[in-house]
Amino acid sequence: RRLVSGLTKTRDNIVSGMDSIFHGFSKIDEDFYEELEETLIMGDLGVHATMNILDDLREKVKTLHIKEPIECRQLLIDSIKEQMDVGETAYEFEERTSVVFVIGVNGVGKTTTIGKLAGKLKSQGKKVMIAAADTFRAAAGEQLKEWANRASVDMIGGQEGADPASVIYDAVAAAKARKVDVLLCDTAGRLHNKKNLMEELKKINRVIDREYPEAFRETLVVLDATTGQNALAQAREFNEAADITGVVLTKMDGTAKGGIAVAIQAELGIPVKYIGVGETIDDLQKFDSEEFVKALFY
Ligand code: GDP
Repeated sequence: RRLVSGLTKTRDNIVSGMDSIFHGFSKIDEDFYEELEETLIMGDLGVHATMNILDDLREKVKTLHIKEPIECRQLLIDSIKEQMDVGETAYEFEERTSVVFVIGVNGVGKTTTIGKLAGKLKSQGKKVMIAAADTFRAAAGEQLKEWANRASVDMIGGQEGADPASVIYDAVAAAKARKVDVLLCDTAGRLHNKKNLMEELKKINRVIDREYPEAFRETLVVLDATTGQNALAQAREFNEAADITGVVLTKMDGTAKGGIAVAIQAELGIPVKYIGVGETIDDLQKFDSEEFVKALFY
């Protein structure tokens, strides 16, 4: 229910525009396709997904001998859903002993997301620990500690400027000793230096290889949905620097740019695993393409 209300602006942005096209046109012609294209692009679905969706629609219109614009509505919905199909929908880190690296540029909601995730997993009966390995940012550790307290989970931190790999090392030792199910690692995801980011992730991955090989690994990138195409560009860059296994889209509440969830999955094939829909600990939801499309179109 909250997802539905959170997506109101995205819905207004994409669906209202589309529906006025379906109802406003009396036949399926080039103008019709052009208007749809513009609506999808304006809805932040991205060029890649938009082209695929329109190619798909043209094809179906032809083979199914569709004449009425309104008949395209369901075809378009199905096609959008298909674009979000990345072939893998398992939330694996939730089901086994795992280490989750969380990366993202400042301000996207990385700290908040780790806190929410800790709270969610904890409420599912998991033993959770946070490793505060973003040691470059002065206030990051304190802010994360507040979230750890809120979620009632342990946190292992380091001094400001400490080697992130040594924080991870300590956290892994503690996680093993305390039989933790999920170790959530806040890491410094700096995009302005891709090489440094890659090196840092390699280094902490090596610590896990050596100290915690049995742990399942996940790397989540946190993106701010309100930035639209910029979020897509960030996803692209992070994907080049690291082995990203999932995306968390924050601030989906109150943005009209929710279509970015389609763009990211269609272009990069990386699943959106969670969406943030507010600022409190309960405002994180598992992303489900089916529900997303339902919330938008029905
Ligand atoms: P970080 O710099 O990436 O660690 O970002 P923070 O976690 O400190 O979040 C930055 C701001 O975004 C804070 O004011 C958060 O409350 C806000 N924020 C994070 N996630 C969400 C969300 O899903 N919805 C809304 N509305 N605000 C969010």
